[in-house]
Amino acid sequence: MTRPELSLCSRCGRCLSVCPTYRETALETHSPRGRLFLLSRGLKDHPAIKSCLRCGSCETVCPNRIPLAENLCLEPPGFPQIPPLIWEKILTGFLSPEKRDPPSAGEPLILLSCGATKLYPRAVKKLRIYLKNLGFNPAETPPLCCGLPLLSLEQKRAFLRVAEKNLLYLAKTKGPLVTLCASCLWTLRRLYPLFFRDTELEDLSKDLSLRVYEIGQFLSFIKERVFLPAEVGFHVPCHLRGEALGVSGARLEACCGSAQPKSLWQKEMPFFLREKLLKGRALRALATACTGCYLKLKRTLKAPPEVKHWVEFLGV
Ligand code: SF4
Ligand code: SF4
Repeated sequence: MTRPELSLCSRCGRCLSVCPTYRETALETHSPRGRLFLLSRGLKDHPAIKSCLRCGSCETVCPNRIPLAENLCLEPPGFPQIPPLIWEKILTGFLSPEKRDPPSAGEPLILLSCGATKLYPRAVKKLRIYLKNLGFNPAETPPLCCGLPLLSLEQKRAFLRVAEKNLLYLAKTKGPLVTLCASCLWTLRRLYPLFFRDTELEDLSKDLSLRVYEIGQFLSFIKERVFLPAEVGFHVPCHLRGEALGVSGARLEACCGSAQPKSLWQKEMPFFLREKLLKGRALRALATACTGCYLKLKRTLKAPPEVKHWVEFLGV
């Protein structure tokens, strides 16, 4: 047990209904309180610790706000570390933003994450036009990975290197930073300040966490909520649970499992998500707001519903 907050579990069980791995397996060891028990016994390498998706859903309902997911990100089980330089070669183009010039002036600054660049560039295009029509002059970062995929692969050293480069690059920019990915939001807002606590980058990470927003949150500050069409379902990513949402629509709250990288290769979707989709009314499209969810839903769902980023419905 690495942080004292982790010993605050009162075993109330409130977290059970939101934990995707417990819901899928019905095994106490695969629940948040089961994992806290394992950690309290020093069993950090137990398979149930490794199977945690680090989705953070338990943290949003826990009355004691126990930061289990945060802690598991901070101190992952002992996986072999691949040198950061090798990751940089594999992920060329995403991991060296500090070498680029800062973006031209303009607000808000759109974070061009892996998903925004490679998976849903149509959403980014739509967003640019939408913001311009609202009177904004948006700017963009270069393609940039927040580093969370590396952390999901237990590559803490590589994650730290990427996060540090991102921080130094983003420190050259000003104003609100908007992301189309809930996992980027979670990483920049919650993990960076945690990882850089008590380091010389602490202030930069705190400043950044205060100016990063999911795009729906940003739009809700400047105009009324965005409503999705009635025949479009809104799959709420786990990393947006507990956050203010700027989008309204038929909500579907069930984890897709994508936070565990190996699940992206599996063609089945988690039981509860499948159940919810089968029970729900027929949908033309399923909109989401996270790169991992988008990938997983695309891989496991046969259209209809078509999988899209919710921003693609802006102005529809
Ligand atoms: S909700 Fe929090 S306090 Fe209650 S069992 Fe889960 S982890 Fe423990
Ligand atoms: S982070 Fe997610 S998967 Fe892990 S214990 Fe909490 S709710 Fe379950």
